[in-house]
Amino acid sequence: MILNGADEGRGEWLELRKILTEVAPKRNESDGFVWPVDGTSDYSVRGYYNKLLQESTEEVVDTTEKEMLKVIWKSWMPSKVQVFGWRLMKERLATRDQLVKRGIIVTDEESLCVFGCLQLEDTNHVFSELYQN
Ligand SMILES: [Zn+2]
Repeated sequence: MILNGADEGRGEWLELRKILTEVAPKRNESDGFVWPVDGTSDYSVRGYYNKLLQESTEEVVDTTEKEMLKVIWKSWMPSKVQVFGWRLMKERLATRDQLVKRGIIVTDEESLCVFGCLQLEDTNHVFSELYQN
């Protein structure tokens, strides 16, 4: 379906009307910001962190992963080391397999280990298999 400018404008108008129907202005109250995480007007990193932690416990994070996250984030390591550890744990480092997933590397040949051992370069290979030999 191809939308022209009028159709797009109509869609935005309908979306705006929907949003505004949910708003009920109050005469004797002043406007203010509300941080939807805890319903107060005070944003805090701690509040958001707790919210994320709460969500993560409800979802997929298993106890082992939670314990590992605690070790990483509660330690006295420099923050860049913490972030590195978190990225390592979550397989978010820029190893070649991740670059393939992100579409940065497009050929299978380029996804192989940079040291020429003809294996896929993933986190496990770089940080454990590579040093066993
Ligand atoms: Zn290798």
